[in-house]
Amino acid sequence: MKIILDFDDTIFNTHRLMREFLEIVKKFGFTEKEFFKAYQKCKEKVGDFNPKTIIELLNEIRPFDKTKAEKKVSLMLDDLKDFIYSDFFDFAKSFNKEDLILLSFGTTGTQKIKINNSKIAEFFKDIIITSRDKTDKTEDVRPIFEKYKKEKIFFIDDKTIQVDNIKNNFPEIITMEMKRPQGSGITTESRLADHIIKDLYDARNIVGNYFDKN
Ligand SMILES: [Mg+2]
Repeated sequence: MKIILDFDDTIFNTHRLMREFLEIVKKFGFTEKEFFKAYQKCKEKVGDFNPKTIIELLNEIRPFDKTKAEKKVSLMLDDLKDFIYSDFFDFAKSFNKEDLILLSFGTTGTQKIKINNSKIAEFFKDIIITSRDKTDKTEDVRPIFEKYKKEKIFFIDDKTIQVDNIKNNFPEIITMEMKRPQGSGITTESRLADHIIKDLYDARNIVGNYFDKN
């Protein structure tokens, strides 16, 4: 068995990270609207969340003490253990480390920092950060599928499009769409997902059921 897990909004509370980032820039006089506009622009520009770029973009709106803001943000990013949803730890302890693979999208070094400082590496056989395609992990999943297709493979992600792409390309993979109540706010629900889950307790039960039945 192999379980492929997404990072943001699946095991990591990205929403909370954004809120805390927002609180920092608010102290420098920026509004929520300005922050989220800069955040969107940053994603268009570098493909991903990158604090330095966001701070640069805010500075274009109104010059401010960037160095001070950067320091506060890097302090926030220093320890991200609390940003991991607590159900992840119970989930991870229920399985063999050899069966867990983290597959995350990221184009900037920030993703690596987020993952490193979350202190979750010990729970995974492999940690893959891909910058290939924001909406499609097919080509990253393919080698895993080829290697382990004789086993049961599970894929967990909060993005409908990711789940649908994986299910379309690998019907044998059992897919779960994560819909956490505090998730990214995307309301479309997959019609291809084998299961819709609200946390990793659901995921653990579902994995367990496949083995009880067979
Ligand atoms: Mg995600």
